Amino acid sequence: MSPYPADLEHWRRAGRIAGEARELGLRLARPGLLRRELADRIEAYIRDQGAEPAFPTNLSRNWEAAHYTPSESDEATLVAGDLLKVDVGAHVQGAIADTAATIEVGDTHRYDRLVRSVREALDAGVRAVRPNGPVDDVSRAIERAVHAQGFKPVVDLTGHSIESYLLHAGKSIPNVGGYSTATFHEGEVVAIEPFVTNGDGHIEDGPFGNIVRFRTDPGDRDPALARAFDRFRTLPFTTRWVTDAAEKASLKGARRLLQTYPVFVETGRGWVAQAEHTILVGPTGAEVLTAA
Ligand code: MN
Ligand code: MN
Repeated sequence: MSPYPADLEHWRRAGRIAGEARELGLRLARPGLLRRELADRIEAYIRDQGAEPAFPTNLSRNWEAAHYTPSESDEATLVAGDLLKVDVGAHVQGAIADTAATIEVGDTHRYDRLVRSVREALDAGVRAVRPNGPVDDVSRAIERAVHAQGFKPVVDLTGHSIESYLLHAGKSIPNVGGYSTATFHEGEVVAIEPFVTNGDGHIEDGPFGNIVRFRTDPGDRDPALARAFDRFRTLPFTTRWVTDAAEKASLKGARRLLQTYPVFVETGRGWVAQAEHTILVGPTGAEVLTAA
């Protein structure tokens, strides 16, 4: 039996669309743009291409490492010098691609080395993937590349295996060596995502970042809630996507059914850069699905 997903074309298509959406986001990210509009336009592109966002576009800035998405009432604009992470997810019938890149908004160029370092770390990690090879090879390659530039990997954030409708499917890909005893297997889909900082190398929970997820099926007692669950299932979503007033009200009253995500902030308020690709473990190494 083939070790590859039966719907491999869906995974490749989701990867292409997510990669293109990421690049669109990087091109649009100029000073003065509403960050809400940036998220909306990235997600509209994904839908136009026939996919669905797998999670709300994360637009975390500066010492925010991850899990911030603009709310529907967010009036903040991008500012020159912002270190912006554009983290994008697309899925085609549950086949998910997850990809990110970091851009310094405007022409300030204060963090070029940090941004370059995380790109090099991602490339080094991707090159170290082998079928039946140790996950630790990837972790060590990432750690080496980050230290070579004099920065720190963020220890608490890791890459992850991906399965149908499951963004974090159980296997972690640490960004430092010595933590994983797992191996890769051919046909597996994995997100590799180094985070690099000039701070402590750790994160803590910050404020709510406008991202939620159904813990379980709410059933059909509340039709508005059932409609929302039908759309989002257990994937992360945001109220920015909910335009129906009844659904909005029901979600507000259903906090117990929802997992809420805090923004991850760097403990030393160091600046954080991230880069991420979703890859397929092929017969000789990684096939980057989100290259674009
Ligand atoms: Mn990821
Ligand atoms: Mn991501």
